[in-house]
Amino acid sequence: MIQQPQWDNKQLQFVEAMQRYEGGWVYPFINKVVSWLNISLQIFLVILAVRLDVSLTWQIFAIVVAFVLADLVSGLVHLYMDHNDHYASFVGPFIAAFHLHHDTPRYTDRQLIHVYVDESGSKQWLVVFLMLFAFLFLFTTTSPVLLCIGAYFAVFSSLSELSHYLCHNSSAKTVRLLQRMWILLPKKHHMQHHRVDNVNYAFLNGMSDPLINWIARNFYPGYRSGTELHTALYQHNRQTLHPDSPIIDLNK
Ligand SMILES: [Zn+2]
Ligand SMILES: [Zn+2]
Repeated sequence: MIQQPQWDNKQLQFVEAMQRYEGGWVYPFINKVVSWLNISLQIFLVILAVRLDVSLTWQIFAIVVAFVLADLVSGLVHLYMDHNDHYASFVGPFIAAFHLHHDTPRYTDRQLIHVYVDESGSKQWLVVFLMLFAFLFLFTTTSPVLLCIGAYFAVFSSLSELSHYLCHNSSAKTVRLLQRMWILLPKKHHMQHHRVDNVNYAFLNGMSDPLINWIARNFYPGYRSGTELHTALYQHNRQTLHPDSPIIDLNK
């Protein structure tokens, strides 16, 4: 006799969260609003940043600092999200949808601009950051270099999602070259995140991973024995409804 698996509370909450995410208009609508807020505020702040009285040397400095910070923050947010299991909260559907990335070896092919727009929709924290920086730009005398760093950081934060997408979906020569130069996220480096527990969280180019891996090792238990198990009932139901869509195991 085949024994039916017993689903635990988190697995049931995960399914309910995904039903909320996929079943109505609320969460897709929030994604769209967040996306357009992020993009319009990025355009606004970058236009202001390049018009500031900042020399080319300081502009380049701001770009480099923003690039490093965006990689670090992308990894820290990812680390936090991979361990987040508050599926029953209002933001639970976003958390549940995020966890499915570990089972996704390839994303739907889209134009890069669409990837940029779509993926900016999942960055709610970036809207708060951009609003804060817009306030600093308009109403305070904050250092112009700091304002440039903030504006470029926001753009690199959205670009980190594009870099992750290219890592999974592109084998174009230019992309591979940029990955070998560690300007984009190198595929071999990132695939460790899908194969091994609790490593290589950074999305932009992975340069922060030694530091983030240290933080993960010392302060986080990993997702294999936690949040990754919570997707099981959802995957089981999807298999039952769509037997043609196999769960692809990246370990194979
Ligand atoms: Zn992850
Ligand atoms: Zn990935």
